[in-house]
Amino acid sequence: MDVVVEPGIGWMELNEYLEPYGLFFPLDPGPGASIGGMCATRCSGSLAVRYGTMRDNVISLKVVLANGDVVKTASRARKSAAGYDLTRLMIGSEGTLGVITEVTLRLQKIPQYSVVAMCNFRSVKDAADVAIATMMSGIQVSRVELLDEVQVKAINIANGKNLPEYPTLMFEFIGTEAYAREQTQIVRKLVSEHNGSDFVFAEEPEAKNELWKARKEALWACFAMEPNLEAMISDVCVPLSHLADLISRSKKELDASPLVCTVIAHAGDGNFHTVILFDPNQEEERREAERLNHFMVHAALSLEGTCTGEHGVGTGKMKYLEEELGVEALRTMKKIKAVLDPNNIMNPGKLIPPHSYTVRVYRWEILDLYHYAQLMCNYAKCQRNKVNARVFSAEGVLPHEIE
Ligand SMILES: Cc1cc2nc3c(=O)[nH]c(=O)nc-3n(C[C@H](O)[C@H](O)[C@H](O)COP(=O)(O)OP(=O)(O)OC[C@H]3O[C@@H](n4cnc5c(N)ncnc54)[C@H](O)[C@@H]3O)c2cc1C
Repeated sequence: MDVVVEPGIGWMELNEYLEPYGLFFPLDPGPGASIGGMCATRCSGSLAVRYGTMRDNVISLKVVLANGDVVKTASRARKSAAGYDLTRLMIGSEGTLGVITEVTLRLQKIPQYSVVAMCNFRSVKDAADVAIATMMSGIQVSRVELLDEVQVKAINIANGKNLPEYPTLMFEFIGTEAYAREQTQIVRKLVSEHNGSDFVFAEEPEAKNELWKARKEALWACFAMEPNLEAMISDVCVPLSHLADLISRSKKELDASPLVCTVIAHAGDGNFHTVILFDPNQEEERREAERLNHFMVHAALSLEGTCTGEHGVGTGKMKYLEEELGVEALRTMKKIKAVLDPNNIMNPGKLIPPHSYTVRVYRWEILDLYHYAQLMCNYAKCQRNKVNARVFSAEGVLPHEIE
């Protein structure tokens, strides 16, 4: 089951079109997101835990390259072992390698039946532990979302609700009626074994929508709490087994900050978001928001995770690419970019950090004349091309070094 679309269509419009056919496209990022932007950012959403991300749901693309070539990246076949995977090269390239003009998407059947459940915990760690236990139990949930107590408070303020202001997990179970109910009861037991309480679930469409509405409007709810502030929204992602550790460390730091910070996580994927509210006119608040973001990224990287699970690196997080992937991977990305877009006309300044040339000379005195000449020649070339260049020795930066 697949569909061929142009990149400007929104995922919500597409799903309205598909509904009469009993089909849907199972990615649900921001309400206004278009399929082209979703491909370019390798986006996902709350359903990724069941259906995967854009990487898993795009069959092929048509892309216009910088030199005008129009490339079809794959056939319509469900699987293929033919050549390099150009589809996946383009997915997540943030418009830096070409312009996507056509997309073939994999579709899913609308589930027969679903149950939505909600429960509370004393700590975010307990909530994260249940998300992990649920995934480890093999239950095929379609959504596992975690909200901390600050986020629940924001939802209460924004919607005039009276939800218990504790760390909260929300689940969706799908399948046949019997299967969805059976999964609900298994998770209910897991919740009670991990200090969870107030387990409620809904099966009627209206009641289910009411429960999900709280989650879907979480970001806007933050602004209801602090209408005059701006939000720095950041996300990181770690292997599921490290999620509880990441959340505990980050939550401690966020709670200690003078800024209001909320936590929302696609917990079944190990994907953790924060909304950090700050006054853009107060420089120290902006710096504090950046510090918290930096802290979270480093916590995730130290736990074998990534600096961004969903939102791409754009310009803000490209500085973390080398730390996350290593210089060799980054160098390979730069080579791909240079070959496909030699004049740097495709989203210049995004994703690929500016070139730099660093040479570390551990024992300067053993460098022979030939290697010294080669080094200086490369250094001069960098300067001619306005590329940052630094030459280090064990004793520090050389006196004639200019950045
Ligand atoms: C309330 C809210 C909730 C969100 N939740 C999620 C979530 O759960 N998961 C998630 O992953 N994201 C989420 N997002 C982020 C958002 O939905 C994504 O950033 C989205 O994938 C981008 O789509 P867009 O159409 O807005 O793209 P744009 O912002 O317009 O573009 C994004 C990038 O893609 C490039 N691009 C756009 N079209 C093309 C094209 N045709 N060819 C090549 N490059 C192109 C642009 O140049 C740009 O670099 C959320 C956002 C909001 C506001």
